[in-house]
Amino acid sequence: MARTIIISNRLPVSIAVASDDQIKISENIGGLATGLKSVHAEENSLWIGWSGIEAEQLTPTNKKKIDAALRKKYRCLPVYLTQEQVDNFYYGYCNKTIWPLFHYFPNMTTWEHDHWTAYSEVNQIFYDAVADQLAEDDIIWVHDYQLMLLPAMIRASHPRVRIGFFLHIPFPSYEMFRLLPRREEILSGILGADLIGFHTYDYVRHFFSSARRLLGYENEFGKIQLGNRLIKVDAFPMGIDYERYNQSGEVDAICEGTAKLLAETSGRQVVLSVDRLDYTKGIPERIRAFAHFLELNPNYQGKVNLIVIAAPSRTQVDAYSDLKREVEELVSEVNGRLGQIGWMPVWFFYQSFAFAELASLYRGSDVMLVTPLRDGMNLVVKEYIACRKDYRGVVILSETAGASSELSETLSVNPNDMNAIAAAIKEALEMPVEQQIRRNKILHNRLKRYTVKYWADDFMHKLQEYTCQMPYSKVTLLKPADYGKIADRYQRAKRRLLIFDYDGTLAPLCPLPEQAKPTPELLKLLNKLANDPQTTVLICSGRKKADLDGWFAKLPIDLSAEHGIWVRPANGEWHQHLALNDGWKAQIRPVMESYVDRTPKSFIEEKTMGLAWHYRLCEPDQAHVRLNELRDTLMEYIQNEKLSLLDGSKVLEVRDLNASKGNIVSMWLQRESWDFVLCAGDDVTDEEMFAVLPDGSCSIKVGADASIADYHVKESAAMLELLARF
Ligand code: UDP
Repeated sequence: MARTIIISNRLPVSIAVASDDQIKISENIGGLATGLKSVHAEENSLWIGWSGIEAEQLTPTNKKKIDAALRKKYRCLPVYLTQEQVDNFYYGYCNKTIWPLFHYFPNMTTWEHDHWTAYSEVNQIFYDAVADQLAEDDIIWVHDYQLMLLPAMIRASHPRVRIGFFLHIPFPSYEMFRLLPRREEILSGILGADLIGFHTYDYVRHFFSSARRLLGYENEFGKIQLGNRLIKVDAFPMGIDYERYNQSGEVDAICEGTAKLLAETSGRQVVLSVDRLDYTKGIPERIRAFAHFLELNPNYQGKVNLIVIAAPSRTQVDAYSDLKREVEELVSEVNGRLGQIGWMPVWFFYQSFAFAELASLYRGSDVMLVTPLRDGMNLVVKEYIACRKDYRGVVILSETAGASSELSETLSVNPNDMNAIAAAIKEALEMPVEQQIRRNKILHNRLKRYTVKYWADDFMHKLQEYTCQMPYSKVTLLKPADYGKIADRYQRAKRRLLIFDYDGTLAPLCPLPEQAKPTPELLKLLNKLANDPQTTVLICSGRKKADLDGWFAKLPIDLSAEHGIWVRPANGEWHQHLALNDGWKAQIRPVMESYVDRTPKSFIEEKTMGLAWHYRLCEPDQAHVRLNELRDTLMEYIQNEKLSLLDGSKVLEVRDLNASKGNIVSMWLQRESWDFVLCAGDDVTDEEMFAVLPDGSCSIKVGADASIADYHVKESAAMLELLARF
């Protein structure tokens, strides 16, 4: 039975080992843990995450006890990390590289090789934990910026498994993302998923832009085509547990500490600010803006307080301890400058408040000031609104918080504009009650409907629905342990045919086609195989014959170029296999040429039976528009001809319908009665070869894309390893 596996950096439980070795486990409440409750509720679901305890601190017995307790009662599987891994992975790459860069703080971003190494290593540890458990029909949901390499790692070994990925922080614009040294690996890692979710549509756009500009992957209708896979990318704004906050007044009517605090503000209006102490939250800017408001509006002096709650966070990272000092100094300075006997304008609390305390503060504050410089979503603002059962209170919300795209009835501000924040504070403090109620009712309606449970269920539902429609094949991973079996079949056979695509199959793909030349090892291997009189080797490539000639002319192997148009038997001459008419080129060429004129850096490649418009070097946005136009125009031309349109990698090709690799493979199959046929390829055109193979053949897809082949291997190196056994 298919299982749901959730993978996040932390588990939804906290684990502590007491001095007498007693293991204490408590469930975390709120956030992701609450949201995924329904997803994790099924009997056979599993949640994989870091235990939160450094591996060195645990004895093997304690580890076993933790494993057993988590598995049985909580359906959780812990991952153990050493102190060094936590330092380099979590405090290092996650919080000194990804976090600042993705929040638009390039000047606070560090690039340390050790941090990157630990990041890949820890992603691999998570991979090992999940791979151990995984069945092909499982459904996996990977969370957040700590595990961006994981989807592709899983995809490489389990091509059919369904994977969702959600990023809880912003995905930055291309100009920011491109600064990341390992940007391609991060993007490709995420693209291992079938469904990729972000909080807002802006992040979706940024992701598409980076995927297109850095990896050359186009998108259409919210999807990216990657080989045979279609990856959906969409916005799923995360909500809160609305009922819990909305009902908080009834459950926790009295909360002594905060009640006392609020009582001290009696007779004054309260502006509240609640965050983790993080430089992305704009806490100093907010305090300065409040001071500015008081200076501009002296009539408010003595009549309003700003309560700043800053929960300690990531204290091991220098930037965070520096920020604490900065905020403390600023609060003293503002209070010293503007305070009066009996009135201190800013009250600062560097501590974490529990749910009930926080909820009572929300209920007792007139204005909620939420002005992060950048925030993936921001839940505090939603919690404040939900807590106000009386529909009172005014929210000032930064336009650079993800929540801003949903909550348009708040007062929206640019968090860097001190005058705008000061003006918004005045407007909020003076907003008539009827207007507050009218705005808040609309906000409540949205938060009530789009709760965190709705968010989680919606994502899972879309993942299931979407992956159902995908043409998943039955391709299974060929492991080194299986190589021997295929080699045995090869050895026992008397008439063997080996058919290979070249690029991506026998040699890894390279940025420039001319770089993909065969290694001496490959040439030796092919030579050895083809010199066996019982074996025929055919390389069937999309390349021009000159390339194949240059590399393989001296080997006793058969060659076919340009997708089956040209053939050259071993040690023979090239001849055109298909007598094709290329009269159509005269019509198509001028059309393509007009697109070359209008699209700088695009060019036409003329093949024997094809015309290809290349746009790899063009400005991607412009190329995207032109590509669609050209495709539409060409469609009209080719309707009455026996021509087809092939969307390749940064190339749109018109070619003769008869030119196909399948055609040439069929011909070779009929030549003899083979008792062993092996065919390997890596891209869409190679599927035409697999389609014509007789039963009992061995077809191998190189790469993780879905395919009609029997097997797949991860990369061309694995293919060569297999052949070395023959
Ligand atoms: N929070 C809390 N106690 C505090 C301060 C904050 O429990 O003293 C909680 C708050 O209720 C919210 C979360 O921390 O649920 C902060 O989430 P948000 O999305 O606003 O920011 P993040 O911390 O994820 O950047």
